[in-house]
Amino acid sequence: MKRKKSEKLYKKAITLMPGGVNSPVRAFRAVGGNPLFIARAKGSKIYDVDGNEYIDYVLSWGPLILGHAYPTVVKALKKAAERGTSYGAPTSLEIELAGLIKKAFPSIEKIRMVNSGTEATMSAIRVARGFTKRNKVVKFEGCYHGHVDGLLVSAGSGGATFGIPDSLGVPQSYISETIVLPFNDTEAFKNTLKEHWNDIACVIVEPVVGNMGCILPNDNFLKALREETEKYGIVLIFDEVMTGFRVAFGGAQQYYGIKPDLTCLGKVIGGGLPVGAYGGKGEIMSLVAPEGGVYQAGTLSGNPLAVTAGIETLKILSKHATYKKLEKSMKHLEDGLKDAAQRAGVKVKFYRAGTMFCTYFTEAEVVDARTAKTSDIEKFKKFFWSMIEQGIYIAPSQFEAGFISLAHTEKDIEKTVKAAYEAFRKL
Ligand SMILES: *Cc1c(COP(=O)(O)O)cnc(C)c1O
Repeated sequence: MKRKKSEKLYKKAITLMPGGVNSPVRAFRAVGGNPLFIARAKGSKIYDVDGNEYIDYVLSWGPLILGHAYPTVVKALKKAAERGTSYGAPTSLEIELAGLIKKAFPSIEKIRMVNSGTEATMSAIRVARGFTKRNKVVKFEGCYHGHVDGLLVSAGSGGATFGIPDSLGVPQSYISETIVLPFNDTEAFKNTLKEHWNDIACVIVEPVVGNMGCILPNDNFLKALREETEKYGIVLIFDEVMTGFRVAFGGAQQYYGIKPDLTCLGKVIGGGLPVGAYGGKGEIMSLVAPEGGVYQAGTLSGNPLAVTAGIETLKILSKHATYKKLEKSMKHLEDGLKDAAQRAGVKVKFYRAGTMFCTYFTEAEVVDARTAKTSDIEKFKKFFWSMIEQGIYIAPSQFEAGFISLAHTEKDIEKTVKAAYEAFRKL
């Protein structure tokens, strides 16, 4: 497989941008070698600048649940662009998207659009602090909530991959307001709340953790988060930036039947354009300016192009058959990958929630950050490059979730399973 043009671009890029990229995991540091530069994408396929074709399981890290360049999304975007790309004033489009989101997420009474998942979590925490007049935030080890200062403690993929749990440039005083607990440890959670509830504004969690692979909540964990936070008047925030419209139409909260106070969204609701949103109980969201005293603003928030892509995406997703089709493809891939590993004699653990999934090279049940780290990274690296060589594009890190889209065909999945068998066999 030729990668000459990608290599040439990478050499140029590293002189201009830190690591040659605009987001760290893209640089392929976790798997060694150079990143592929992408020229275009359509449906389930992406094409690099050297003309190689890949079946894409990264999907821009989750947003493209319909596949790349979905015709009605592209058509709507072209029309929207001709009407102007930004007005900095309200539009009817924003009302339409808010309505579509509310229908899928009954816990959201009021919503505010922002430009990224990071902005959504940062803002949700500010509102929670404003509402409770308390300062501390509880988060879970390995959960990633964007690059918010106070949350860059034990923050999943980037950190886990590079072995740096924290970031330079984050004052110790910010971190001192963050309490980090192990995911799925209900006892530790209960004890912490019992002791510190009086200082705790909110608990933020990825209800299914997609930023250290794919880790499912155990039976009572989310329920305990809900009951305990309610008991102490603490705001429960579900960070559904990845899981929203992905684990189910109504996100992990629908799938697990738990109603958080606030929800953060992003990724899918932007249909591949930069977007984020946070919303929840009217009583809490009414504190956001200009209704209330919690300041939060954005020049491009509710951008007509981003909102248009979101509306078109959610319209397709709200059709009854969509998730059935996604589920069928995902089950096909799950069965195929498990079977391929077994035939090749490689011990793996496979997890998935809706259409997000991860294969770990370990024999241990993966339930938290500690057990995720038992995965054999050397094996993953070999597996990754073997898949790339065979035209299958998976995330360049063990600690990222994989995704499928509506565009993935049975043929795509069969090709993927075949490639995975070859890759497993060579380990
Ligand atoms: C991707 C992600 C974010 C951050 O979103 P950005 O748009 O990259 O800022 C936050 N939380 C979760 C759970 C995510 O998966």
